[in-house]
Amino acid sequence: MASESTTEDHSAVKKPNGFPPLLSKKFGITDIKQDAVKWNKEWEAAIASLTAADVLKEISQKLDDSFFTPQHMELFHKSLRSLQTNVAEILSNLLNNGHFDTIWLLLNAAEQRKHILEGLKRASEDPSTIWGPDCRALCPEVTVSNFLSQSGKGFIDFLTRVAEIFGSPITPAFLPNSWWEQASNLPNPWWGQASDVSPQRQISQSTKLVFEVATITRNQFIGEWQFVLSSAFSIVSDITNRGEGMKEVLHFMENTKGHVARCLAEVKTTFRDKPIIRCENCTKTPDDIGQNVRFMVCSVCKTKLKFEVHYCSQSCQKEHWSVHKKACGKKKVTRGLSGTKGDFLWAFSDSDPVANLMRNLPKKEGRLTLRDIGVNPCNGKRSPAAERQAKMLEADKDVDYFLFTASGEPVRFVIDDLGAKMIFRINRGMIMTQPTDTTGVNAIGEYMLKLMSNYPGLSRDIIIKQLCEEYGEDIAEKIVELEQMAYSSDLLTVRCSVA
Ligand SMILES: [Zn+2]
Ligand SMILES: [Zn+2]
Repeated sequence: MASESTTEDHSAVKKPNGFPPLLSKKFGITDIKQDAVKWNKEWEAAIASLTAADVLKEISQKLDDSFFTPQHMELFHKSLRSLQTNVAEILSNLLNNGHFDTIWLLLNAAEQRKHILEGLKRASEDPSTIWGPDCRALCPEVTVSNFLSQSGKGFIDFLTRVAEIFGSPITPAFLPNSWWEQASNLPNPWWGQASDVSPQRQISQSTKLVFEVATITRNQFIGEWQFVLSSAFSIVSDITNRGEGMKEVLHFMENTKGHVARCLAEVKTTFRDKPIIRCENCTKTPDDIGQNVRFMVCSVCKTKLKFEVHYCSQSCQKEHWSVHKKACGKKKVTRGLSGTKGDFLWAFSDSDPVANLMRNLPKKEGRLTLRDIGVNPCNGKRSPAAERQAKMLEADKDVDYFLFTASGEPVRFVIDDLGAKMIFRINRGMIMTQPTDTTGVNAIGEYMLKLMSNYPGLSRDIIIKQLCEEYGEDIAEKIVELEQMAYSSDLLTVRCSVA
């Protein structure tokens, strides 16, 4: 319960004590210690059902503007400002140096969820926020689903925005949120019913100050050792301690040193979270049509095959019947339209060049294997060495690259990791098609040097010499440049600056 004596004690300004968690109680939210996933789900549902006005009403049930003195306000603003400067500095360090974002994007969704929940948990348990766990209701943008969107790009975008706003010289620098701002000027809902309040206490009809304090609290909850930094540190500590869920990604990062990993992380952010729906006849999506149109499914296929064939309208279903009737209820057949469940590359966006390259490759029984990302026909003239490489790769499709020992003995370089294999082969395809564009050579060169320099019969110099023969003398310099973007030292910098 809030202590009222603090309002009269002007000489020693201290933060008011915490208020009771009325919202957590109202929604009967599970204790986080019992079940963090359930706790989170219940909060997300509760927040989605509330308006900012509802939240403000609930949390200001026992107070009004007269509760906060000017000294309180000054103290709140000062402490927010100092934490913001701090947070902005740490976040930009984290985002600009090292491979924090790449590592994060490469983590699987379960690992990402774990870190976000850890951040939320610490923020909700922080004793210095005056509304305790209820503070979460002030931050509708802080949801697991928001942050996990686009393979986790949602979280990186959010951190970038926080760093930008908290680092701006404007005071106060509040994170904008249109949902929350709707509560900026409400009459005090409690005031009207407060006839039993002792006469010496001034009652304010406004909630301007309460809103301001809640806005400061909102920004505190998001910043500091609370949500943003707690989740970021959960990730950083997993990196430095090589946590179980981090091992695979770190192994990948170390073996690719950066360029291939960065490519993969970038590709991943454009992935769809789930397949989209398209009309089997006109190929339009619900978004294309708009106006909340409800798509229909073929009921025969749905009942008999548990298989969904979608149509935007009855007329489209009719128009398509002559084609669909051959399979209807008998066989699971769709056109496999781009982005839909029937498209095995549905996760890739329609405009993704990588996916389109793969969509256009020859497929066996409708499926493409990475083996099929072969050597493309050349648009220019390959060097004799590159021509020999291309011929050998065409003849042995399991091999990702042929390296040659000093005595000319071929070494079959084969990558196991599927993501790395895909990026490697795409880069390989680029240089085989456009021998003058050396971007791809840098990436595959960097990757092979890291993995193969110590292979019996090979060395760094031997591999570089081969690549120069294949793609020109200036390649060596470019690869070294890429290699110098060191990896592990960056992570250490981050660790030292936050410790
Ligand atoms: Zn249609
Ligand atoms: Zn059907």
